[in-house]
Amino acid sequence: MTESQEPRESKNFIEQAIESDLASGRFDGVFTRFPPEPNGYLHIGHAKSICLNFGLAKKYGGTCNLRFDDTNPAKEDVEYVDSIMDDIRWLGFQWDNLHYASDYFDQLFQWAEKLIREGHAYVCDLNADETRQYRGTLTEPGRNSPHRDRSPEENLKLFHAMRDGEFPDGAKTLRAKIDMASPNINLRDPVMYRIMRAHHHRTGDKWCIYPMYDWTHGQSDSIEGITFSNCTLEFENHRPLYDWYCEKLGIHHPRQIEFAKLKLSTLLIGKRHMLRMVKEGLVDGWDDPRMPTIRGYRRRGYTPESIRNFCSEIGVAKFPGTIDIVRLENSIREHLNRLAPRRMAVLDPLKLTITNWPAGHVETTEAVNNPGDPESGSREMAFSGSLWIEQDDFREEAPRKFFRLKKGGSVRLRAGYIIDCHDVVKDDDGNVIEVLCTYDPETKSGEDTSGRKVKGTIHWVSADHAKEVEVRLYDRLFAVEDPSVCAEGQTFVDHLNPDSLKVITGYVEPELANAEIGDRVQFERLGYFIVDIDSTPEKRVFNRIVTLRDTWGKMEAKGKTN
Ligand code: ATP
Ligand code: MG
Repeated sequence: MTESQEPRESKNFIEQAIESDLASGRFDGVFTRFPPEPNGYLHIGHAKSICLNFGLAKKYGGTCNLRFDDTNPAKEDVEYVDSIMDDIRWLGFQWDNLHYASDYFDQLFQWAEKLIREGHAYVCDLNADETRQYRGTLTEPGRNSPHRDRSPEENLKLFHAMRDGEFPDGAKTLRAKIDMASPNINLRDPVMYRIMRAHHHRTGDKWCIYPMYDWTHGQSDSIEGITFSNCTLEFENHRPLYDWYCEKLGIHHPRQIEFAKLKLSTLLIGKRHMLRMVKEGLVDGWDDPRMPTIRGYRRRGYTPESIRNFCSEIGVAKFPGTIDIVRLENSIREHLNRLAPRRMAVLDPLKLTITNWPAGHVETTEAVNNPGDPESGSREMAFSGSLWIEQDDFREEAPRKFFRLKKGGSVRLRAGYIIDCHDVVKDDDGNVIEVLCTYDPETKSGEDTSGRKVKGTIHWVSADHAKEVEVRLYDRLFAVEDPSVCAEGQTFVDHLNPDSLKVITGYVEPELANAEIGDRVQFERLGYFIVDIDSTPEKRVFNRIVTLRDTWGKMEAKGKTN
């Protein structure tokens, strides 16, 4: 094998940057952080950032912190802090250190004083509107604030008065003195502090001035000794400001690297949209199994492994793009295919009677738990002459290629016998309400001596033994590729899939009526399901995690969506 043929592990652009900085000696270790703002629940996009930051620290023997960027008390809450920690642990990660940007408020205040003393920051009396007008536009430079040339002494005095509560909310700001003509609007004397009397979930009422995100984020990274500050692309234009603050303060200077936000087809994964869905009752809370929150995926039945595998497979990208939702769905299918025991359940029942079965007789059959995993063994099922099968598995008249049951045809009952349908019973409207079959005693699964072959196998439950459960058939929340694309007068709400939830009664193998909350199974031929927390001792509730195959892809191919 020549050198070029050797398998080489491909590195993404962040890993390349890290390795180059380690090689050049710019940094001597990999120190990352995951920095959520505690203003909402984590979503699948955050999972990507978590996997990236914790993953890099692990790969390079480094450290990863969890830091709450809690600079906006008006929108933040401990409820979010707790749920974020819980979701990160559930995903399988543990932070090395836990920090809050609010723990750095004193240090930030002192650093602001330093910038003021050195002529790099000033107190400005313009209100929010005026500040915006002075800022200029993308094509026009801004104008200097009339307060830009205050002396450091005056600025210090005013800044202290701001902190001491001597001015009303919004009356003054502290701004960095950079360049009002910069082509990068973020460098046009950005605001560092605003006056805002809001109760903070950690600092209480100690402060009436709060630092802006940009003035907090990089400094927090620096204090913690972060070396690689990975963030999403919208912060690319903020990097010069990140660098400016570190340079002017002369403090440890991490490297900010931007990557593209995860966007998934058929989903909207911003906190803003999710908040609206929850507030307007369009979904049943943050943990609604249709929501793209980690809470939602947990309740839906996704495993942490399936989400981690998905994140690792899609990798990190430098440019925005959309990932097909089918890849996430396939990730959970693949994991559950290995993990989930098979069980039989009938969700749309049609009565099937075996006319040559001895009256009242019940037999035990042996059903394999997971054909892909011999170690999972088998279980016993009660078989009788009165069964439920799926409506869909029977046609009175069917095309030649219909390999399920039809009148005059034969099929194998999984873990049962080959049956032959000779007649049907109909109601007054002509609907088939019962299928009449005979069974072939020589064809019992596992003991078949008949040599008979049939093309199809269907599932069933014994009518007298099956238990009723509630089944929640979840489907995609939006019925379009990109719910953010709206015609005039429409919002994303108009794209909600009206069929994203159907609640039905299902008939399941008896032991499933005792399944524990959180148990996952495959209902044979139907999909993967999890026992929901709404289950009671009297009635289990099963959520459909995902169907066995991508039915949407098929429908699209036939032009059947919308
Ligand atoms: P949202 O758009 O939902 O409000 P956010 O970026 O405001 O998200 P933060 O709590 O500030 O949410 O984010 C914490 C970390 O997660 C940040 O580093 C952010 O860049 C990253 N992140 C947020 N959304 C995504 C996404 N869709 N893909 C990858 N990373 C993301
Ligand atoms: Mg944010």
